[in-house]
Amino acid sequence: MTYTPMIQQYLAIKSQYKDAFLFFRLGDFYEMFFDDAIKASQELEITLTSRDGGGEERVPMCGVPYHSAAMYIERLIEKGYKVAICEQVEDPKTAKGVVRREVVQLITPGTVMEGKQLEEKANNYLASLTSFEDGTYGIAYADLTTGESRMTLLHSFEDVLNEIYSIGTKELVVATAYKEQCQFLQERYALTISCEDETTIPNACQSIVSHLKQEKLLVTCGRLFNYLIKTQKRSLAHLQPVELYEVDAYMKIDVYSKRNLELTETIRAKGKNGSLFWLLDETMTAMGGRLLKQWIDRPLLDREKIEQRLHLVEQLQISYFERQELREHLRGVYDLERLAGRVAFGNVNARDLIQLKKSLKQVPMISTLLMQIHDEHVQAFAQHLDACEDLVRLLEEAIEENPPLSVREGGIIKDGYNEALDRFRDASRNGKTWIAQLETRERELTGIKSLKIGYNRVFGYYIEVTKANLHLLPEGRYERKQTLANAERFVTKELKEKEALILEAEEKSIELEYELFVSIREQVKQYIVRLQKLAKYISQLDVIQCFATVSEKYNYCRPQFSHDRRLVIQQGRHPVVEKVLGSNVYVPNDCYMDAEREMLLITGPNMSGKSTYMRQIALTAIMAQIGCFVPAEEAILPIFDQVFTRIGAADDLVAGQSTFMVEMLEARNAIVHATQNSLVLFDEIGRGTSTYDGMALAQAMIEYIHDRIGAKTLFSTHYHELTALEKQLPRLKNVHVSAIEENGTVIFLHKIKEGPADKSYGIHVAQLAKLPFDLIKRAEQILHEFETNTAPVVKEKEEEFQQLSIFLETNDETRSSVSKKEKEVIKRIQSINLLDMTPLEAMNKLYEIQKLL
Ligand code: ADP
Repeated sequence: MTYTPMIQQYLAIKSQYKDAFLFFRLGDFYEMFFDDAIKASQELEITLTSRDGGGEERVPMCGVPYHSAAMYIERLIEKGYKVAICEQVEDPKTAKGVVRREVVQLITPGTVMEGKQLEEKANNYLASLTSFEDGTYGIAYADLTTGESRMTLLHSFEDVLNEIYSIGTKELVVATAYKEQCQFLQERYALTISCEDETTIPNACQSIVSHLKQEKLLVTCGRLFNYLIKTQKRSLAHLQPVELYEVDAYMKIDVYSKRNLELTETIRAKGKNGSLFWLLDETMTAMGGRLLKQWIDRPLLDREKIEQRLHLVEQLQISYFERQELREHLRGVYDLERLAGRVAFGNVNARDLIQLKKSLKQVPMISTLLMQIHDEHVQAFAQHLDACEDLVRLLEEAIEENPPLSVREGGIIKDGYNEALDRFRDASRNGKTWIAQLETRERELTGIKSLKIGYNRVFGYYIEVTKANLHLLPEGRYERKQTLANAERFVTKELKEKEALILEAEEKSIELEYELFVSIREQVKQYIVRLQKLAKYISQLDVIQCFATVSEKYNYCRPQFSHDRRLVIQQGRHPVVEKVLGSNVYVPNDCYMDAEREMLLITGPNMSGKSTYMRQIALTAIMAQIGCFVPAEEAILPIFDQVFTRIGAADDLVAGQSTFMVEMLEARNAIVHATQNSLVLFDEIGRGTSTYDGMALAQAMIEYIHDRIGAKTLFSTHYHELTALEKQLPRLKNVHVSAIEENGTVIFLHKIKEGPADKSYGIHVAQLAKLPFDLIKRAEQILHEFETNTAPVVKEKEEEFQQLSIFLETNDETRSSVSKKEKEVIKRIQSINLLDMTPLEAMNKLYEIQKLL
């Protein structure tokens, strides 16, 4: 038994798209068969049926209607699957045997062109990764919806991970041989891993890579573009020249730190509410939103470029009225980049073209506004804005203001645009008028007042006469068409002729409209490059006005940059916390650091604001380097090459690693890569392990950074013992967050002051948290004893506290099993002064002690 020809055709096509759901067009449905059907019926919750396929068993089958397929495709893509769209490519009426079918597009997570998966203000990048033998990597990525593509070469896999995280790609294309090694990324970043081994640049893409000379660059891009062309199967005229960049040109912020600082998303909820992006996003266009995100991801290092941005921000900030108007005009600008993408892709409709026209019409007004600002740089910006007047004229003349969604049913092209179309329309309109007048004429002729002319889809135009009046109709002229309960419908020769004329004219005009639309669409294609350029400037302008708006709204100041690595922040704030708490509640703080003062050791009770203070310094530096004003009254900053953070986070349990391991990995990252131009934030390092262990590590890290790196470092700790380091390390200074005690409770002032904190307020925080009274009392007692003698505190004998006792009492009868050897060990451990030891000495000591047992 063999399968039917159609199932054979299905299997042949499916064998080329093994990793995708094959949507096989059958009439008005896309059908899936075999395993695809079983899996799709589960994933999409649709009914699984079967059909006779000629084989022994029936073939499992399920399907979705053609007109609602988009929704189902979207659901599958969201889950990380791919969908191959297989269409009938010849007319079933004229086909001999099985209709020819071909896959016309492979939709993948990295190449979706529509649907809610496309966030307005986020790019959807498809990335390709190539690992070279010399240990370097090439990564290239393109956003098919906007046509942007970029690439860079990297020197470590760590950098690769950073890039993957920051571009937020959903699909990574690698060589088949490399797939295995990249599999873990699939889980870690919810990436779809796809394969492409062809790396020769496709002909259609030659022009966008002509500036890339190096073999590695070409191979990396080649993989990306081959995959794109093979999946999309159409010309991708909107792909822009690949932008080559170097990660070293931007401030480096590793994955951990980006997350810790909540730059584009918050740690707890994946959403962006509460992130820096959320705070800053006063952009008016989707393109501006995407660019803002890119800028936040890549703060600049080039002082001149930063100053250029800041200058424009300042100019717009002071031009209040122009800015308000500018915002209104920007609001009227649709997503030019994605519109251009749809034009190139061939799925643009008349409504898109109207959006395009409306957007372009804003441009001259935007230019005029910019020209009103008396600044040469702002005015120069206006010169760049190309309003594409000829395109506006074309769209104005050709496209109806409120066209339908469908491009196949007419109603798109304006009267007067095309003579032939006008003639068809006239014919149809005249015919309709003639028919409308016919009613009056027929009534007069027959004397039947209730005579009506009507239209239905099956019989066309008819004359309706009630049964009671039938006798009034003259013989011969009327041909009976349809009989109703109490009326008869007729046609006349004349009416039939007119009807044919009308229908023909209508059909022709719809056909012609579609042809005209396609030709207009082709004409618009010629503008893609200009539109993309315009989109670039508009989005920059949008982000600049966004910064100006934010700066004014929250009272930010223009930062200055020091040449001697000095950092002076006066009345600085954490922008997000300030917004959430309100500026009347938030306590501003200063920060001063220079060559003599490179490390600040911050002590203070929990919840007093240590980590907020540290983050605010990092966010201030980042905001300054993306060209935004900063939350302070005055800010002078060095240009930081990198920012590292180790800040406790809620979701430290990443991929099975213990909290402490994550802590150490993040710390290592900073210690290995930081330079004296970096900013390092370490929050409560060592908390994840036992006290002495943690303290030893913390001290060793401080010494290491102080002596060997010299990075600007903020180090918060609750180990008060560490404050003694100030005497030993000349560039380290103690600061603390002040709190006052009132009636036995703590009031945090959130104010940073010089010197170490004098006392731990932990117990009071516990009290605020309403721990049992007895427990608090006991803690106070222990603390008191700690403060008065250095030996471990041993609980007086009291039944109910037995379990809390940590250290063994030698005379405790219940512990009599403790051997003499063990007592000796305990004694030795107690006598160790850990603060005077290097980690190696500690190891040796431990070895010595272990030998005793
Ligand atoms: P710590 O790191 O010392 O445990 P946090 O920095 O987490 O403390 O701050 C605890 C809380 O105190 C924050 O959630 C915030 O609401 C508040 N806070 C911190 N700094 C300030 C400030 N400068 N002004 C007002 N409230 C603050």
